[in-house]
Amino acid sequence: MARYSEELIAQLKANADIVSVLQTFVPLRQRGKSWLGICPFHDDRSPSMYVTPSMGIFKCFACGAGGDVFKFVMDHEKIDFNSAVEMVAQESGFSLPTLKAENKAEMEDRAIVLALNELAHEYFCEQIKHAKTAQDYIARRGVSAEICERFGIGYAPDNWDSLVSLAASRGFSPKQCVLAGLANEKDAGGVVDKFRGRLMISIQSLTNKIVGFGGRIMVDGTNAPKYMNSPETPLYHKSDILFGLNHARQSIEKSGEVIVVEGYFDLISLYQAGIQNVVAVSGTALTEQHARLLARYAKRIFLVFDGDGPGRKAARKSLETLMPMGMEIRILVLPDEDDPDELVREKGAQAFRDLLQTRARDFLDHLSAELPQRTPEERTVFHSEIRRLIAAIRDPLLKQEYLNLATQRYPVSRQLMASMPTLSRPPKIKLPAPTDENEMPPPEAIILSPIESRFLNLMTRNPFLWKALHAWFDPDIFESRTLVELLDSGLAIYEEDGAFDLAKLSLRLPNTSLDLIQRLPEETWNAETAQKEFLATLVQITIFRLGRARQSLQARTPETSEQLRIVTELRLECNRFVKQLEVVKIKLAGEADSLQSASLLWAGLREGLPKFFSKMINA
Ligand SMILES: [Zn+2]
Repeated sequence: MARYSEELIAQLKANADIVSVLQTFVPLRQRGKSWLGICPFHDDRSPSMYVTPSMGIFKCFACGAGGDVFKFVMDHEKIDFNSAVEMVAQESGFSLPTLKAENKAEMEDRAIVLALNELAHEYFCEQIKHAKTAQDYIARRGVSAEICERFGIGYAPDNWDSLVSLAASRGFSPKQCVLAGLANEKDAGGVVDKFRGRLMISIQSLTNKIVGFGGRIMVDGTNAPKYMNSPETPLYHKSDILFGLNHARQSIEKSGEVIVVEGYFDLISLYQAGIQNVVAVSGTALTEQHARLLARYAKRIFLVFDGDGPGRKAARKSLETLMPMGMEIRILVLPDEDDPDELVREKGAQAFRDLLQTRARDFLDHLSAELPQRTPEERTVFHSEIRRLIAAIRDPLLKQEYLNLATQRYPVSRQLMASMPTLSRPPKIKLPAPTDENEMPPPEAIILSPIESRFLNLMTRNPFLWKALHAWFDPDIFESRTLVELLDSGLAIYEEDGAFDLAKLSLRLPNTSLDLIQRLPEETWNAETAQKEFLATLVQITIFRLGRARQSLQARTPETSEQLRIVTELRLECNRFVKQLEVVKIKLAGEADSLQSASLLWAGLREGLPKFFSKMINA
């Protein structure tokens, strides 16, 4: 039976996140560096299966089941090894050659490319010993012999065919050198070395295989491009490989932090200076696959970019990719003339660490510094950019936190921020279901109290009422946060269009809120009864809320006479509000022009409510 090569399996295993793969079958929740879940291989009552992403294994402490990600998928799905490999590859976005007739050829290609890369690496490392310019260059950049060896730094001599000839003497054809990305075909026919007169840095996979090269010219200012990288080959997929991750992995895992820089030498200098939790994106933007890889090892990510145009653009692009991962993102844009390499060589590692601590910003501050906000148009761009990025966060709690932070820091209307655009794609990772009541709070059960449910029904079926809600809306009176978010979104639509539209609202809502609306009972109102009931429900909701405020005041035990005075005053104020609201209720229940007089009374009362609630919070 055809098999995927061991080398490929090892690469896939290093790339696949065992936690997200297993989570498609079993809910898991994090406990320290491991994840815990109900074992599917025995009749498990309390979670006994541990998953350790850094080791790529799972283990059940009750029945002993355990192994790697493939073993889990094989046993759980009762499928063979190859099918498990394919399933894991698909789940991890890993490009896998097909195991059909052409597979043998592909496997051979990969083996040839790997062998040629190893040959080239040996050759480059040998050549640098005889190349004075390269040695001087290395010395100028202060790179030690040990670091040279670790990162496989060598030299490609300035000849047309020295590597191709060497390969030929070992039985490799010129075509195979082209396949490996080490040679180019000439228009006039024939094949020449791709890398000539360049300092060569080997690009290594997580499993320490040499998958490609980056070549740097040693004299700046010539016409040649500063860096030349290997093209995509059967072995080298740029979106899967992060330069330096094989060396940095342990240090990243230990610190929980990773620093992402732009250039090979930025990384090498930092690494040599002792800052080893660092990776570089080589000749490509940070991809989703990169982000997933990093999220396995790090909770916090520092993006370090040059202050030039491309650097700023790359920072924005990386942000978009990283937002859904839920990592803590900090961005450091260096002043124009600085790069990490020079900085650490001139001022030392501590200076760089200090810079990270003091100058790296969260994404809100980063955007605020990057985007001008002088005119209404510029501010609109700024706000919608923030909204777009927050909307990409998958974790609902984290999303809410950033939403709060954004409204605190910038004068953005709460309603506008609440109208989140929908996610560009559905979250892939299922949220773990609660397995143990004591340890994990159940997700907010979206059941409204009867009065709040009635209020929502009224609002969704009588669009004209949104004008009144827009005139006065105090989120503090409502018990359900889901209802508040829903009303916020509705108000945003009202602000944008001057009218409420249920279809538009339903497009913006998460499924749970939509479900809430769909379950509302069928009911119709005429304009007058709708207005009356709008007021009646608002008043009743406020009375309930005040009732809870009174309870919490009664539960307090003031320690000083000043505290006693404040609590007593608040209790009296609370009682006054309730009494007057009861009067509004009585008026509403009356007959002729009752709505008008009740509305007037309510309008006089409601202005004081937000102030009262804020005093309650501060007391
Ligand atoms: Zn078990």
